[in-house]
Amino acid sequence: MRRVPFLVGTVVLCLLLAPSPASGADGRSGLGDPYFPEDGNSGYDVAHYDVRIAYDPAHPDRLTGDTTVTARATDDLDRFNLDLTGFDVSAVTVDGRPAREVAREGDHELVVTPAQRLSAGSTFAVRVRYSGRPVGEGWHQLADGGADVAGEPHSATAWYPANDHPSDKATFSLTATVPEGWTAIGNGRPGPVTTDGAGHRTFRWHEDHPMVGYASTVAIDRFTVHTSVMKDGTPVITAYSPDALIDPDAEAQQTEILEFLASRFGPYPFSSAGAIAVTHRAGDGPVDLETQSRPTYDSGLFDVAMAHEIAHQWFGDSVSFTDWRDGCISECFAQYANWLWYEHQGDDIDRDYYVPVVAEHRDDHDFWSVPLYDPGPGRQLDKALYDRGQLMLHALRRTVGDDLFFTILRRWQRDHRYGNASWPQFEALAEKTAGQDLTGFFAAWAHGTTIPADKYLYPGTLGSATAGQ
Ligand SMILES: [Zn+2]
Repeated sequence: MRRVPFLVGTVVLCLLLAPSPASGADGRSGLGDPYFPEDGNSGYDVAHYDVRIAYDPAHPDRLTGDTTVTARATDDLDRFNLDLTGFDVSAVTVDGRPAREVAREGDHELVVTPAQRLSAGSTFAVRVRYSGRPVGEGWHQLADGGADVAGEPHSATAWYPANDHPSDKATFSLTATVPEGWTAIGNGRPGPVTTDGAGHRTFRWHEDHPMVGYASTVAIDRFTVHTSVMKDGTPVITAYSPDALIDPDAEAQQTEILEFLASRFGPYPFSSAGAIAVTHRAGDGPVDLETQSRPTYDSGLFDVAMAHEIAHQWFGDSVSFTDWRDGCISECFAQYANWLWYEHQGDDIDRDYYVPVVAEHRDDHDFWSVPLYDPGPGRQLDKALYDRGQLMLHALRRTVGDDLFFTILRRWQRDHRYGNASWPQFEALAEKTAGQDLTGFFAAWAHGTTIPADKYLYPGTLGSATAGQ
């Protein structure tokens, strides 16, 4: 996401789980994330979400959902948890059979006891039917009555039952039924649009590459939709809310940024691209977010926001972090992409950005105080990741040289495409690829809480860039 004010969900759960049957196992709430220990659930691995919703903007208090989660049990399960915030759950089946018991715990746990124990290694499908007013983090009202979903760290559970932790990525299908005159936009490629003859249209979207929960979205508005293609044939679908600025130059620039970043990071990872430009209702935004294949922008397409959110398609969406200590593998790179884009336009990063920013903050202790790796609970998306992440990556580039720096980025993408990775893995890859001991560099830049020593701050030619200051 771009750095905008957001609420950090503080989840306090009171778990009152009954004792397990003697020989069975329970999938538990929580995957033990260092910052969000209750996020996600253990005992299974989701392969696919088939999310079906109906929503009428005239009745924002009622979303009707019918979601099937296909997962593989990683343990013998007598019961398991899904994350879902709010809603009345009317029916739950597992492999077509009604669940023996369904319970809600805390503010986002749905506890399902299937009719039969699920065996470790087996694949099962849990279907949940639910309705009510969406109340979870990330559900927003739009200026002219529509709605959209954009929220990090959590937003999936605001509209469908999920294993809501970035380490469990899954493919995704969306079927959204809305009144005539409204359009539903989702992630990935569009499917057929059908009408029911009773005033409703149903939109279908499919994201065929694994996705983290917070990158999934639906946006419902009276959209104007433009379609084009990248040079490699990837469709670019850009949707504009009625109040959003439609700027043909910015739309052309979107494709230029996609192709430019592909030249730096490696092939664009997804089978569709584009944007959702919405206008959030006053007090409910602004929010820009790297929703997969189709970032969400507040008000319109602007180059700074686009370079950042499009870079996230590689860094954050295709290669996702393992837990919330690793925000830098997403935000540090997305923010550095802004400078790469400006450099492509003719700016000099050393002279125009890096050296002045460092000079401005030389004696600003707060600026250097939060470590970029493992910044601490509640600081998982601290502004340091944005402000100092781009400095660190530029200093790394000047330390190892352009060729090796971009080789590191492309190998990172190639090695972890569509998966999860951690910041320590990035450090290891950088050292191996560069053939250099970068321990001191990363200790100073990624783990330190004070300004790096000058040898790390002004490596190579950066030293001469300071001479003119
Ligand atoms: Zn971001």
